Amino acid sequence: MIYKSREKSAELKIMEMLHTRMDLSPEDKKNYLNLAKGLEGEMRFDSFTEKLQCECLVLNDLLLASNNTTFQIDALIIVSDTIYLYEIKNFEGDYYYKDGDFYSIRHFKVLNPLHQLNRKESLLLPLLRKHGYHLPLDGKVVFINENFTLYQSPMNQPIIYPTQIRKYFSNLNNIHSKLHKRHKLLAEKLVSLHITNPSVKPNIPPYDYTQLRKGISCGHCKSLSVLVDGRKCFCPKCKHEETVASGVVRSAREFQTLFPEKKNDNKNHS
Ligand SMILES: [Zn+2]
Repeated sequence: MIYKSREKSAELKIMEMLHTRMDLSPEDKKNYLNLAKGLEGEMRFDSFTEKLQCECLVLNDLLLASNNTTFQIDALIIVSDTIYLYEIKNFEGDYYYKDGDFYSIRHFKVLNPLHQLNRKESLLLPLLRKHGYHLPLDGKVVFINENFTLYQSPMNQPIIYPTQIRKYFSNLNNIHSKLHKRHKLLAEKLVSLHITNPSVKPNIPPYDYTQLRKGISCGHCKSLSVLVDGRKCFCPKCKHEETVASGVVRSAREFQTLFPEKKNDNKNHS
């Protein structure tokens, strides 16, 4: 059962709008595409957890703090005798593993997902203990993209490879799990600890109203090439159609998200 669903992060929402309405620097564009790709991978992972029939509580996308450090959990599953923690990676293409590190095929060292997992385990465990929960924690790095290959992959690490995902969830679905009130209380506790307004500002480039491209964005592909015909909007790029009213409302909301402090000013322009 999905106890906490996943939402698009504020950072990704804003970057998506800026990508449509201004020219991002190559670095910002890369950051935006990485965020979008990360979410795409997480949603693919969710397509497996959503089908679980065993007694479990699935919590997606938690931002927690422990020892004065905040950390993000991609997904966590509570079953009767274990808490599973997942670090989801949407790496695509060829990579290799050497001396404990991960490299892209062009020899760029990537942030080690096993270290990221270890760090989160070592922060989550004391937090659970502090609140009186002593269930064992079982962390896994999940490479979710079926076009991912890891040469010289290690056998003895907590990794789920793309070819193992179906089997992994089939096994998890077949475990004997009986949840009690304390499991529900644990899920409630974690959701209550979830930080909704992080104090650290996300990695968003500066922008101002005058530099942004105005107009109605397509509700499907976000393009600004939308054509207005009477009460209908039509996107020539993806053929999406909607009423002008809903397109205007959505675009006004976009500007409100981008300029929360200027809510009233923008109504007249968008
Ligand atoms: Zn479109």
